[in-house]
Amino acid sequence: MKPLSLQISGYKWLNSRRTRSHVPLNLYRWSSTAQLPRLDFPSIDAKWRNYWSKRSLDTSQSSSTSSQTPDHVARPQKYYICPMFPYPSGTLHMGHLRNYAVADVLARYRHMAGYDVIHPLGWDAFGLPAENAAIERGVDPAEWTISNIYKMKEQLELMNGSWAWHREIATCHPDFYKHTQSIFLMLYERGLAYQEDALVNWDPVDGTVLANEQVDANGFSWRSGAKVEKKNLKQWFLKITDFKEDLLNGLKLLSEGNKWPERVISMQKNWLGKCNGIKLQFNIENSIKGDESGTVEVFTTRADTLFGVQYLALSLKHPIVEFIAKENPELQAFIDNGPTLPLDSKAGFLLPDVRAINPMSAFGGATTKVQTPIPVYAAPYVLDDYGSGAVMGVPGHDPRDHAFWRENKGSKPILTVIAPNSQASPVSSFLIPGEDDVPFMERGILTVASGPFSGLTSDEAIVKIVEKLQADGQYAEPSETWRLRDWLISRQRYWGAPIPIVHCGSCGTVPVPTYDLPVALPKLRKDQLKCKGGNPLEDIPEWVNTQCPKCQQPAKRETDTMDTFMDSSWYYFRYIDPRNEAAPFDKTLASRLLPVDLYIGGVEHAILHLLYARFIARFLATTDLWPPDIVEDGSTTPDPANIGEPFKELITQGMVHGRTYSDPETQRFLRPEEVDLTDLEQPKIKNSEVTPKISFEKMSKSKYNGVDPTICINKHGADATRAHMLFQAPVRDVLEWDEERIVGIHRWFHRIWRIVHTASSSTTPDFSPEPTTYSPRAHFTIFNSVSSEYNDTEQDLLITLRQTIDSVRTAYSETYALNTAVSDLIKLTNTIDSTSIFSPENQSQSAVNPVVYFDAVSVLLRLMAPITPAFAEECWEALLAPLKASGFIRSTPSSSRIAQEALPSSSIFDMVFPETAHLPPAAFLERRSMPCAVQINGKVKFVLQLRDSGDVGEDELRKRILGVIKESEDGKRYFEFTEDGDIEGVKKMIVVSRGRTVNFVVPGKGKGKK
Ligand SMILES: [Zn+2]
Repeated sequence: MKPLSLQISGYKWLNSRRTRSHVPLNLYRWSSTAQLPRLDFPSIDAKWRNYWSKRSLDTSQSSSTSSQTPDHVARPQKYYICPMFPYPSGTLHMGHLRNYAVADVLARYRHMAGYDVIHPLGWDAFGLPAENAAIERGVDPAEWTISNIYKMKEQLELMNGSWAWHREIATCHPDFYKHTQSIFLMLYERGLAYQEDALVNWDPVDGTVLANEQVDANGFSWRSGAKVEKKNLKQWFLKITDFKEDLLNGLKLLSEGNKWPERVISMQKNWLGKCNGIKLQFNIENSIKGDESGTVEVFTTRADTLFGVQYLALSLKHPIVEFIAKENPELQAFIDNGPTLPLDSKAGFLLPDVRAINPMSAFGGATTKVQTPIPVYAAPYVLDDYGSGAVMGVPGHDPRDHAFWRENKGSKPILTVIAPNSQASPVSSFLIPGEDDVPFMERGILTVASGPFSGLTSDEAIVKIVEKLQADGQYAEPSETWRLRDWLISRQRYWGAPIPIVHCGSCGTVPVPTYDLPVALPKLRKDQLKCKGGNPLEDIPEWVNTQCPKCQQPAKRETDTMDTFMDSSWYYFRYIDPRNEAAPFDKTLASRLLPVDLYIGGVEHAILHLLYARFIARFLATTDLWPPDIVEDGSTTPDPANIGEPFKELITQGMVHGRTYSDPETQRFLRPEEVDLTDLEQPKIKNSEVTPKISFEKMSKSKYNGVDPTICINKHGADATRAHMLFQAPVRDVLEWDEERIVGIHRWFHRIWRIVHTASSSTTPDFSPEPTTYSPRAHFTIFNSVSSEYNDTEQDLLITLRQTIDSVRTAYSETYALNTAVSDLIKLTNTIDSTSIFSPENQSQSAVNPVVYFDAVSVLLRLMAPITPAFAEECWEALLAPLKASGFIRSTPSSSRIAQEALPSSSIFDMVFPETAHLPPAAFLERRSMPCAVQINGKVKFVLQLRDSGDVGEDELRKRILGVIKESEDGKRYFEFTEDGDIEGVKKMIVVSRGRTVNFVVPGKGKGKK
């Protein structure tokens, strides 16, 4: 920063206490009696939005070909902040407001802190809700979506955000989905996209397939809420499983320094579900025709429970089950019924004449209770693709097996073979219904029921059991399984990116050549806009019928469209190069601007969206689009920024809950018009005068607790709405939206408005008798140029400034504790507001220098600007107006854009963000007053305020304390002084804790002077 060359005549002595009385009268112009201009927050918003619309904070290159802007040169470090893009429902809700306000605050801060900020917004515009809503209304989904985007953009604009609209994208636009399709083709070429028959989750309401991830634990669709059915269909999959190890290892990097929330990391880990275990074989007693091995392979992570196996369960597609079903119509009926059962069904079908031998029976002794042979069931709870579609049933140590046993075997006893570690001599026992009938799931110590292995811990036993089985010539192999399955991306619906594939009778599956992209969606016919369900694409022959790109023979287009999670898995790449026609994005831009530094959105995206995005980013990092290496002058070096992860840091913001009224008797939710709110503290139900129950719950139509953010903004202004929202709760927590309390923020704003005018009027116009080449950006250096003689109030103010700068910076850049940032800013405001400015009329020892006051206000405004952008601009303009009018602030002829624009329209966002380094050194400010308890013979008589003397010597300290006591009223009351300045009759003066306590030993004078 440029050092300030400030030449103000008389400035030095302004800061000297001794000469304060010589301040010339014309240095101040007080306007304390003048009326403050009225604050009209919505008008202030409009004024500054209009001003900002002519300039963008996001000045980084938007295309690879444009020349570098001077601003970019000045801001070498990029910061890419990305809020999760909204689905354009047409209505902005409070959750959006919170998400985008947080992102905007952090983006504005980074801009002021000197970063090259990328802060885009776009639209997650494909998907079933739009298709269903449009068809319900008989309009084209494209028209419906675009009109919603316009509506939402208008609402968003009210928020005072700083989005880079030149980067705007919509996933339903052919310019965008052309590249979604090209990324699909890149995956296809690498063998990572394939089509396969699969038993899939079918949503009968929406008439489409769902990914496993889109079915909740109880078997219901995450979107329509319908009971999901199983159907066998040919589907497109992406081989995300090829990246499972990378996705798991990447989580370790993301958890470093808590850059990603622990909760999201563990949810993703669970979803990947890597699991180390053992593959074992159970022999089948009566070898069945059709299964030559005569064995059933199982996978288990708990080989230590082998002595407790009481049955085997096979999946409905297991070869043994299918073989028996051919001659057993009852079993066939059970299999056919399988898809209609709830996902957590514990139904079982006992396979007649099939029994299995526990491999541990070879080691059975007198104490073991190895049950062999054991029954074998067909059971839908066993998944086809877990292990080999067979489960060893250990009801004593697994909750699902336990539930299965009770459902199929009733009250028959369950054996336990593991005891808690605390049991010294573990014995085995049985679980019986009604008496602690709960499986013991933890690892522990093997009981006597495990024969030669009893007394071992679970972990020891697993190793020994595998060794023993192998030594005995039996099959036992360490193995790992994963929960992650390939990603099913086929959707049998219209409103999505068509899968760019052609099916040809002779060539088979043929990819559409890249130069033919996009495969654009056809327009729907009027009659198609009326029926819901099914895939309208199948019903448009002129679109379906095409030519094979290979042999030119008639062929048919693939009618499945892609899951919208495919669009959102890469959109943040597109923002960096949104108008590139030839490629999804430019690789030079990608290596410069990616990854996203900070990604912000709801925790509901912890698995699906974030996992798919990580997969696609990792895939792109294996291509030439986002190479992990930098090639320069023929040499290749790894790019440290590109570890294949798309989002360096993640904030998951909490939900917004609304104030909800219900009838305490009936629990019925009350409409707003049913509640009398004249006394907010004591609301009444209008009909009954009863006090309603008040709670905060997820906003929903049925609870009448929704809040329209635009109404709130129009009423209170966007800045107050933003500040209130941030102040009410930490970003990651649930926010209980209580609009009434916004008055507290308004009071704060009015206090700021007052101190701004106090500061500006006390410095005009003679404050700057010699106009200089001053830039407000450097204003802070004034602090360092003033004399070191601060009074106590000034020191307190400077210390508060220092603390506030520290805490607000940390909140904006590290902890995101924006609620404490607001509260610290309110405290700073109060501190400034409680001081008065030194003037000819006010020569109090505690009054502060107008320069110190002015700069304190300037710091406050810049600290709060990211949160309250328009109001901060308005205040900044008011603060500087007199200085500008006097010509004190002048633009310099330098090439700096900041300086050129400093007048007359300078924006607070052109200012540098305050740093503590701009303040007088901390050590200097430590010299502040502190209480000193004065004792006589160990009894406290009075307390003095003492300036902390820093690191002066003991003798000097005593001298200073004596000096203060002598000058003080209390000192004169309690003591008499000798001519040398000592206290009469004092035998000893003991100074404790550097002057916090001082004790005078005065023999025979217990009560001092009095
Ligand atoms: Zn062909």
